[in-house]
Amino acid sequence: MMNVIIAAKFLRSPKKLSFDEPKVASLALGAVALVLAATFGLGWMIRGADGAALAEMQKLRTELDAQRVALDAARSEAQMEVNAIAARVGELQAQANRLNALGERLTRVGKLKDGEFNFGELPGQGGAEGAGDMPSRELLASLDALEAQFDHSGNQLSVLEALLFDQSLEADAVPAGMPAPGYISSGYGGRNDPFGRGRAHHMGIDIDANTGDPVTAAAGGVVSFSGVRNGYGNVVEIDHGNGYTTLYAHNSQNLVRAGDVVRADQQIARVGSTGRSTGSHLHFEVKLNGRQVNPRQFLQKARG
Ligand SMILES: [Zn+2]
Repeated sequence: MMNVIIAAKFLRSPKKLSFDEPKVASLALGAVALVLAATFGLGWMIRGADGAALAEMQKLRTELDAQRVALDAARSEAQMEVNAIAARVGELQAQANRLNALGERLTRVGKLKDGEFNFGELPGQGGAEGAGDMPSRELLASLDALEAQFDHSGNQLSVLEALLFDQSLEADAVPAGMPAPGYISSGYGGRNDPFGRGRAHHMGIDIDANTGDPVTAAAGGVVSFSGVRNGYGNVVEIDHGNGYTTLYAHNSQNLVRAGDVVRADQQIARVGSTGRSTGSHLHFEVKLNGRQVNPRQFLQKARG
Protein backbone atom coordinates (compact mmCIF):
# COMPACT_ATOMS: atom_id res chain seq x y z
CA MET A 1 0.00 0.00 0.00
CA MET A 2 1.41 3.44 -0.92
CA ASN A 3 0.19 6.68 0.58
CA VAL A 4 0.77 10.08 -1.08
CA ILE A 5 -0.04 13.27 0.84
CA ILE A 6 -0.98 16.12 -1.41
CA ALA A 7 -0.83 19.59 0.19
CA ALA A 8 -2.02 22.57 -1.73
CA LYS A 9 -3.37 26.06 -0.94
CA PHE A 10 -6.66 25.47 -2.65
CA LEU A 11 -7.13 22.43 -0.48
CA ARG A 12 -8.35 23.26 2.98
CA SER A 13 -6.51 20.35 4.36
CA PRO A 14 -3.86 18.03 2.89
CA LYS A 15 -5.43 15.11 1.09
CA LYS A 16 -4.14 11.68 1.40
CA LEU A 17 -4.22 9.46 -1.68
CA SER A 18 -3.77 5.80 -1.28
CA PHE A 19 -2.54 3.57 -4.17
CA ASP A 20 -2.40 -0.05 -4.54
CA GLU A 21 1.37 -0.60 -4.89
CA PRO A 22 1.48 -3.22 -7.66
CA LYS A 23 -0.88 -1.13 -9.72
CA VAL A 24 1.47 1.91 -9.57
CA ALA A 25 4.48 -0.23 -10.28
CA SER A 26 2.92 -1.70 -13.33
CA LEU A 27 1.80 1.75 -14.50
CA ALA A 28 5.28 3.18 -14.03
CA LEU A 29 6.81 0.21 -15.77
CA GLY A 30 4.39 0.63 -18.63
CA ALA A 31 5.27 4.30 -18.97
CA VAL A 32 9.00 3.56 -18.97
CA ALA A 33 8.53 0.80 -21.52
CA LEU A 34 6.56 3.15 -23.74
CA VAL A 35 9.22 5.86 -23.58
CA LEU A 36 11.98 3.36 -24.31
CA ALA A 37 10.06 1.84 -27.19
CA ALA A 38 9.41 5.28 -28.63
CA THR A 39 13.08 6.21 -28.30
CA PHE A 40 14.27 2.99 -29.86
CA GLY A 41 11.70 3.20 -32.58
CA LEU A 42 12.66 6.77 -33.47
CA GLY A 43 16.31 5.87 -33.33
CA TRP A 44 15.78 2.93 -35.59
CA MET A 45 13.77 5.08 -37.96
CA ILE A 46 16.44 7.77 -38.01
CA ARG A 47 19.21 5.23 -38.46
CA GLY A 48 17.23 3.63 -41.33
CA ALA A 49 16.74 6.95 -43.09
CA ASP A 50 20.42 7.71 -42.60
CA GLY A 51 21.37 4.42 -44.16
CA ALA A 52 19.24 5.05 -47.23
CA ALA A 53 20.74 8.52 -47.63
CA LEU A 54 24.22 7.10 -47.24
CA ALA A 55 23.54 4.47 -49.87
CA GLU A 56 22.15 7.14 -52.16
CA MET A 57 25.20 9.31 -51.57
CA GLN A 58 27.50 6.38 -52.25
CA LYS A 59 25.73 5.79 -55.53
CA LEU A 60 26.02 9.46 -56.47
CA ARG A 61 29.68 9.47 -55.56
CA THR A 62 30.30 6.46 -57.79
CA GLU A 63 28.45 8.15 -60.64
CA LEU A 64 30.37 11.34 -60.05
CA ASP A 65 33.65 9.44 -60.12
CA ALA A 66 32.68 7.83 -63.41
CA GLN A 67 31.72 11.20 -64.83
CA ARG A 68 34.97 12.71 -63.63
CA VAL A 69 36.93 9.97 -65.39
CA ALA A 70 34.95 10.57 -68.61
CA LEU A 71 35.45 14.29 -68.28
CA ASP A 72 39.18 13.86 -67.76
CA ALA A 73 39.37 11.70 -70.88
CA ALA A 74 37.38 14.24 -72.90
CA ARG A 75 39.49 17.06 -71.53
CA SER A 76 42.77 15.39 -72.41
CA GLU A 77 41.42 14.57 -75.88
CA ALA A 78 40.31 18.17 -76.37
CA GLN A 79 43.63 19.34 -75.01
CA MET A 80 45.44 17.22 -77.57
CA GLU A 81 43.39 18.83 -80.32
CA VAL A 82 43.95 22.27 -78.88
CA ASN A 83 47.66 21.52 -78.74
CA ALA A 84 47.61 20.43 -82.38
CA ILE A 85 45.80 23.63 -83.33
CA ALA A 86 48.15 25.75 -81.24
CA ALA A 87 51.13 24.14 -82.94
CA ARG A 88 49.57 24.79 -86.34
CA VAL A 89 48.80 28.41 -85.43
CA GLY A 90 52.40 28.77 -84.27
CA GLU A 91 53.65 27.54 -87.63
CA LEU A 92 51.32 29.92 -89.45
CA GLN A 93 52.46 32.79 -87.25
CA ALA A 94 56.08 32.02 -88.07
CA GLN A 95 55.19 31.96 -91.76
CA ALA A 96 53.30 35.22 -91.48
CA ASN A 97 56.27 36.85 -89.76
CA ARG A 98 58.57 35.61 -92.48
CA LEU A 99 56.24 36.87 -95.21
CA ASN A 100 55.86 40.24 -93.53
CA ALA A 101 59.62 40.66 -93.18
CA LEU A 102 60.17 39.63 -96.78
CA GLY A 103 57.36 41.86 -97.99
CA GLU A 104 58.78 44.84 -96.12
CA ARG A 105 62.23 44.19 -97.50
CA LEU A 106 60.90 43.89 -101.04
CA THR A 107 58.83 47.03 -100.69
CA ARG A 108 61.87 48.94 -99.46
CA VAL A 109 64.50 47.55 -101.81
CA GLY A 110 62.22 47.22 -104.83
CA LYS A 111 60.83 50.72 -104.27
CA LEU A 112 57.33 49.31 -104.46
CA LYS A 113 54.46 51.32 -103.14
CA ASP A 114 53.17 50.20 -99.75
CA GLY A 115 50.04 48.11 -99.81
CA GLU A 116 50.26 47.63 -103.52
CA PHE A 117 50.62 43.93 -103.23
CA ASN A 118 47.86 41.56 -102.53
CA PHE A 119 49.25 38.10 -102.12
CA GLY A 120 46.14 36.29 -103.19
CA GLU A 121 42.79 36.64 -101.57
CA LEU A 122 41.80 34.11 -98.96
CA PRO A 123 39.39 31.45 -100.14
CA GLY A 124 35.77 32.61 -100.31
CA GLN A 125 33.88 32.50 -97.05
CA GLY A 126 30.25 32.18 -96.11
CA GLY A 127 27.51 29.73 -97.00
CA ALA A 128 24.13 28.51 -95.90
CA GLU A 129 25.19 26.22 -93.09
CA GLY A 130 23.85 27.17 -89.68
CA ALA A 131 25.98 28.45 -86.87
CA GLY A 132 27.23 25.95 -84.35
CA ASP A 133 30.30 24.52 -82.78
CA MET A 134 32.92 23.97 -85.41
CA PRO A 135 34.07 20.38 -85.39
CA SER A 136 37.77 20.45 -84.62
CA ARG A 137 38.38 18.29 -87.68
CA GLU A 138 36.88 21.05 -89.84
CA LEU A 139 38.88 23.70 -88.01
CA LEU A 140 42.07 21.76 -88.65
CA ALA A 141 41.12 21.38 -92.31
CA SER A 142 40.59 25.13 -92.68
CA LEU A 143 43.92 25.72 -90.99
CA ASP A 144 45.48 23.36 -93.52
CA ALA A 145 43.91 25.42 -96.32
CA LEU A 146 45.23 28.60 -94.74
CA GLU A 147 48.66 27.05 -94.49
CA ALA A 148 48.54 26.14 -98.18
CA GLN A 149 47.61 29.72 -98.95
CA PHE A 150 50.60 30.92 -96.94
CA ASP A 151 52.85 28.48 -98.77
CA HIS A 152 51.56 29.81 -102.08
CA SER A 153 52.21 33.42 -101.03
CA GLY A 154 55.61 32.43 -99.71
CA ASN A 155 56.56 30.82 -103.01
CA GLN A 156 55.36 33.86 -104.88
CA LEU A 157 57.44 36.09 -102.66
CA SER A 158 60.47 33.92 -103.21
CA VAL A 159 60.05 34.15 -106.98
CA LEU A 160 59.46 37.89 -106.69
CA GLU A 161 62.56 38.19 -104.57
CA ALA A 162 64.58 36.39 -107.21
CA LEU A 163 62.96 38.57 -109.83
CA LEU A 164 63.93 41.76 -108.02
CA PHE A 165 67.38 40.85 -106.79
CA ASP A 166 68.75 38.65 -109.51
CA GLN A 167 70.60 41.03 -111.83
CA SER A 168 70.12 38.74 -114.82
CA LEU A 169 66.39 39.16 -114.40
CA GLU A 170 66.55 42.92 -114.02
CA ALA A 171 66.53 43.56 -117.78
CA ASP A 172 63.50 41.32 -118.01
CA ALA A 173 61.53 43.74 -115.82
CA VAL A 174 61.61 46.55 -118.41
CA PRO A 175 58.60 46.33 -120.71
CA ALA A 176 59.58 44.97 -124.11
CA GLY A 177 57.79 43.38 -127.02
CA MET A 178 54.19 43.43 -128.15
CA PRO A 179 51.70 42.34 -125.49
CA ALA A 180 49.26 41.05 -128.13
CA PRO A 181 49.48 39.89 -131.75
CA GLY A 182 48.39 42.70 -134.08
CA TYR A 183 49.21 46.19 -135.25
CA ILE A 184 48.99 49.50 -133.40
CA SER A 185 45.65 50.96 -134.42
CA SER A 186 45.85 54.02 -132.17
CA GLY A 187 48.96 55.69 -130.79
CA TYR A 188 49.76 57.41 -127.52
CA GLY A 189 48.85 61.05 -126.87
CA GLY A 190 46.38 63.42 -128.50
CA ARG A 191 43.85 61.83 -130.80
CA ASN A 192 40.25 62.11 -131.86
CA ASP A 193 38.03 60.48 -129.28
CA PRO A 194 36.80 57.16 -130.72
CA PHE A 195 33.33 57.97 -129.37
CA GLY A 196 33.24 61.26 -131.27
CA ARG A 197 33.67 63.57 -128.29
CA GLY A 198 36.45 65.67 -129.76
CA ARG A 199 40.13 65.50 -128.89
CA ALA A 200 41.28 63.33 -126.07
CA HIS A 201 44.57 62.30 -124.57
CA HIS A 202 45.15 58.63 -125.16
CA MET A 203 46.95 57.19 -122.15
CA GLY A 204 48.25 54.17 -124.00
CA ILE A 205 48.23 52.46 -127.33
CA ASP A 206 45.61 50.27 -128.91
CA ILE A 207 46.61 47.02 -130.53
CA ASP A 208 44.12 45.63 -132.98
CA ALA A 209 43.54 41.97 -132.18
CA ASN A 210 40.79 39.40 -132.24
CA THR A 211 38.67 38.43 -129.28
CA GLY A 212 40.36 35.52 -127.52
CA ASP A 213 43.88 36.35 -128.76
CA PRO A 214 46.48 36.01 -126.00
CA VAL A 215 47.46 39.07 -123.98
CA THR A 216 51.00 38.57 -122.71
CA ALA A 217 53.04 40.30 -119.99
CA ALA A 218 55.41 42.88 -121.46
CA ALA A 219 57.88 42.05 -118.66
CA GLY A 220 58.14 39.94 -115.54
CA GLY A 221 56.52 41.20 -112.37
CA VAL A 222 53.69 40.78 -109.94
CA VAL A 223 50.02 41.30 -110.78
CA SER A 224 48.97 44.28 -108.69
CA PHE A 225 45.39 44.39 -109.99
CA SER A 226 43.10 42.03 -111.85
CA GLY A 227 39.44 42.89 -112.17
CA VAL A 228 36.96 45.33 -113.65
CA ARG A 229 37.80 49.04 -113.71
CA ASN A 230 35.48 51.77 -114.93
CA GLY A 231 35.93 52.34 -118.68
CA TYR A 232 38.72 49.78 -118.89
CA GLY A 233 36.49 46.73 -118.54
CA ASN A 234 38.48 43.68 -117.49
CA VAL A 235 41.94 44.98 -116.73
CA VAL A 236 45.22 43.50 -115.51
CA GLU A 237 47.96 45.65 -114.03
CA ILE A 238 51.49 44.35 -113.47
CA ASP A 239 54.08 45.91 -111.18
CA HIS A 240 57.57 45.25 -112.48
CA GLY A 241 59.22 46.29 -109.25
CA ASN A 242 61.49 48.97 -110.68
CA GLY A 243 59.07 51.86 -111.03
CA TYR A 244 57.41 50.41 -114.12
CA THR A 245 53.86 49.18 -114.24
CA THR A 246 51.96 47.99 -117.30
CA LEU A 247 48.21 47.84 -117.85
CA TYR A 248 46.18 45.64 -120.20
CA ALA A 249 42.55 46.63 -120.73
CA HIS A 250 39.26 45.61 -122.40
CA ASN A 251 40.10 41.90 -121.95
CA SER A 252 37.37 39.35 -122.57
CA GLN A 253 38.88 37.35 -119.70
CA ASN A 254 41.64 37.85 -117.15
CA LEU A 255 43.74 34.75 -116.48
CA VAL A 256 45.76 35.96 -113.50
CA ARG A 257 44.92 37.16 -110.00
CA ALA A 258 46.35 39.96 -107.90
CA GLY A 259 49.51 38.67 -106.27
CA ASP A 260 50.41 36.26 -109.07
CA VAL A 261 54.01 36.38 -110.21
CA VAL A 262 54.26 36.47 -113.99
CA ARG A 263 57.16 36.04 -116.36
CA ALA A 264 57.75 38.07 -119.49
CA ASP A 265 55.60 36.79 -122.38
CA GLN A 266 53.39 34.78 -120.04
CA GLN A 267 49.74 34.90 -121.10
CA ILE A 268 47.76 36.92 -118.58
CA ALA A 269 44.43 37.53 -120.36
CA ARG A 270 42.41 37.14 -123.54
CA VAL A 271 41.75 40.05 -125.91
CA GLY A 272 38.19 41.42 -125.79
CA SER A 273 36.07 44.54 -125.97
CA THR A 274 34.86 45.02 -122.39
CA GLY A 275 34.44 48.50 -120.90
CA ARG A 276 34.51 51.65 -123.03
CA SER A 277 35.51 50.07 -126.31
CA THR A 278 34.30 50.19 -129.90
CA GLY A 279 35.66 46.80 -130.86
CA SER A 280 37.98 43.99 -130.00
CA HIS A 281 41.44 45.36 -129.16
CA LEU A 282 44.04 45.58 -126.42
CA HIS A 283 44.55 48.92 -124.70
CA PHE A 284 48.09 48.90 -123.33
CA GLU A 285 49.60 51.45 -120.94
CA VAL A 286 53.04 51.80 -119.43
CA LYS A 287 53.58 53.90 -116.30
CA LEU A 288 56.89 54.95 -114.86
CA ASN A 289 56.64 55.97 -111.21
CA GLY A 290 52.87 56.32 -111.55
CA ARG A 291 52.82 58.47 -114.72
CA GLN A 292 51.87 57.28 -118.17
CA VAL A 293 54.66 57.18 -120.73
CA ASN A 294 54.55 56.34 -124.42
CA PRO A 295 54.63 52.52 -124.60
CA ARG A 296 55.92 52.56 -128.16
CA GLN A 297 59.51 53.15 -127.04
CA PHE A 298 59.49 49.79 -125.27
CA LEU A 299 57.83 47.68 -127.91
CA GLN A 300 60.82 47.45 -130.22
CA LYS A 301 63.27 46.73 -127.41
CA ALA A 302 64.85 43.34 -127.48
CA ARG A 303 64.98 41.53 -124.21
CA GLY A 304 68.42 40.88 -122.73
ZN1 LIG B 1 43.17 52.72 -125.87
